[in-house]
Amino acid sequence: MQVLKFGGSSVADATRISAVMDIVEAALARDRVILVCSAISGCTDALIEIGRTSEPAARAALIGKLRNRHLGIVRRLFTGAERESAEAMLEELFCALENYSGTCFESFGELFSTRIIERKFACDGVGSLWLDSRKLVMTAGGKVDEGRTYPAMAAAVAAAPDVRLFVAPGFIASDENGQVTTLGRGGSDYSAALYAAGTGADTLQIWTDVPGIMTANPKVVPSAQTIPDISYRAALELAENGAKVLYAPTVMPAMEKGTDINIRNTFDPRHPGTVISGRFRPAGDAWMGVTSLAVPGRDESRLCIVGEAVASRRAAAGRMVSALAEAGISPVGEVYGEGGVFFVNVKSLVENEAVAALHREFFEDRSVVSINVFLAGYGAVGKALVELAERSRSRIEARTGRSINIVGVSDSRRFVIDMRGIPAEDIPMRLSEGESAEGGAYVAAVCAAAPRKSVFADCTDDHSLYLRYEELLRSGVNVVTSNRRSVAVPYVQYAAIKAAARENGAYFRYDTTVGNALPILESIAGSANCSDGIESVEAVVSCTLNYVITGYDGARSDSLATLLRRAQSEGLTETDPRTDLGGRDVLRKLLIMAREAGIPLEEQDVEITPMLGPEFFDCPLDEFYARLAAYEPRFIQREAELDNAGLRQRFVASLRRDPAARLGYKAEIKMRLVGMDSPFYWISGTENVTVVRSEYSSPLVIKGAGEGVKLAATGIIKDILMQ
Ligand code: ASP
Ligand code: MG
Repeated sequence: MQVLKFGGSSVADATRISAVMDIVEAALARDRVILVCSAISGCTDALIEIGRTSEPAARAALIGKLRNRHLGIVRRLFTGAERESAEAMLEELFCALENYSGTCFESFGELFSTRIIERKFACDGVGSLWLDSRKLVMTAGGKVDEGRTYPAMAAAVAAAPDVRLFVAPGFIASDENGQVTTLGRGGSDYSAALYAAGTGADTLQIWTDVPGIMTANPKVVPSAQTIPDISYRAALELAENGAKVLYAPTVMPAMEKGTDINIRNTFDPRHPGTVISGRFRPAGDAWMGVTSLAVPGRDESRLCIVGEAVASRRAAAGRMVSALAEAGISPVGEVYGEGGVFFVNVKSLVENEAVAALHREFFEDRSVVSINVFLAGYGAVGKALVELAERSRSRIEARTGRSINIVGVSDSRRFVIDMRGIPAEDIPMRLSEGESAEGGAYVAAVCAAAPRKSVFADCTDDHSLYLRYEELLRSGVNVVTSNRRSVAVPYVQYAAIKAAARENGAYFRYDTTVGNALPILESIAGSANCSDGIESVEAVVSCTLNYVITGYDGARSDSLATLLRRAQSEGLTETDPRTDLGGRDVLRKLLIMAREAGIPLEEQDVEITPMLGPEFFDCPLDEFYARLAAYEPRFIQREAELDNAGLRQRFVASLRRDPAARLGYKAEIKMRLVGMDSPFYWISGTENVTVVRSEYSSPLVIKGAGEGVKLAATGIIKDILMQ
């Protein structure tokens, strides 16, 4: 048996009731259900008001209003003959209210709501039985008489073995004289716990309008979080001391029977909510929540903080006092309490501030450092970066103690800076309303606004943005770039940027400029710095060339031109793909790799033999494609010959120790023939392979995807987070 209880806001109108029915139907697929409901929200207050109003016209008006709200629900839920009969049923109940001469007016609310819901289930073909809680829940001396209540409930359910759904009003009961009474305001939770205990249910769910018991009232502390697991005792303390989500007496029956209480959110049915159980026994101090209650008759509020397994009372009290002091609040009197429950009184006026201060101290993770990121470029990579940072937020926080906070974004025309953070989904709109980025205004604004240790992430392919890097670094802003052009600049400029970073305690990182997210640069730097130097670096790192050439390896079904056009349409190439074929892009990568190995290589030091002869480069693009088509048969023939010999051609960038060369290293980019013993032989698509040889006999081989915006975003985040 399962008991599901829904509160007043969960049954407030027809739409909400439909959502409740969906949840109940899902539960029915598992097992039988007792559905316990409150009155629709505001109804109990209205009924109490009606009970107090003796003037007939005023009273009739109040009853009329309540009738109309319920009629409105009935009219939305039912049609045709079913509506007529539901209206008649409701009319009967309201007639009884009008003629009521007793004292428990508020007992009508749950009758209204559960009668409507039970009827709706019946009309939908879910046979159900309405249980009269006035006959089953019995009190004596103002307390529930469990000795009579539990057997009555068990008998009612046992008498209807074929019924899968019982619907029962919460809140109402009868006393030892047979008079209708209630279990106290908010008492439907308690009714549900009694039904669960009385029928031996194994599931007790309390569905409400917040995602479980929270570390504080979310209306007072917006950063309050759901408590996933809590003991009966701590839940009881929170409920007794001001947490409104659960009616305190509810805990006892469940605790006695060892039934878990699961608090769930009707507005977010998939959220797991809070589980109150006997199993939750943390090993060390675990703070659960902070609550507050007005102290009757005094202009004071009593704050309460509840923990489990709290080792030191003194330490806890000290933290409370200093947290309040930090917020400028002086407590009225001392901290008192014991076990895991501590109280302190403050003036009512500062109640909310005090709750927030305690919450900050005990529940907000101040060890998470927020990294402000100013993003330049909102193209494919920039968007992927924002998306990934958002999606991985909690994982990054948990694992690194840091969080990425996007505080600035620019595209080629506009920029926006907001130090509070710009949510990913707001960026396009905020950018369109942003300031003009003309004349490098974005960098100037970043330098002015950025706190030290912020990060400027260059995800553009701008040709000159790097000229502003020094300025950023001198303002204490770290620079991370995926823009290869910014790093493969003349060595003096490169060195100046590096120096600016070092001198200002900032970092300049560009790991994604070679081999995307593959750890190529860090491996080269590691080998170069920590061994006797590098013997050689050989790399097949042109995604375009690899794509085209490896396209031939197996299939040979597409022509060179087709493959190249496809590479271009997939965004792998520069606007004129010949820039890649000519080795320009690989040249940039080789410069970056060499410098990482401590070799101040310049463009002039590199000997490039393009894949194609000069006649392919000195003509317009259309003509180029025509010439490529004419050349195709020769290329195919050569590939076939090589294949027979067990060889493949690869466009390799290399740097090899050579005492005769200017810097002691010879740098070359050209087609090479490789056999099956080479790691370059075994690549496909846009894979990159880099082989680093140092003094050790076995080389380091780094192989993996060399392309992809998501990967680029991963690599940039790695750069941002690296300590
Ligand atoms: N309807 C009652 C009240 O408002 C009982 C409940 O909602 O739990 O107090
Ligand atoms: Mg309620």
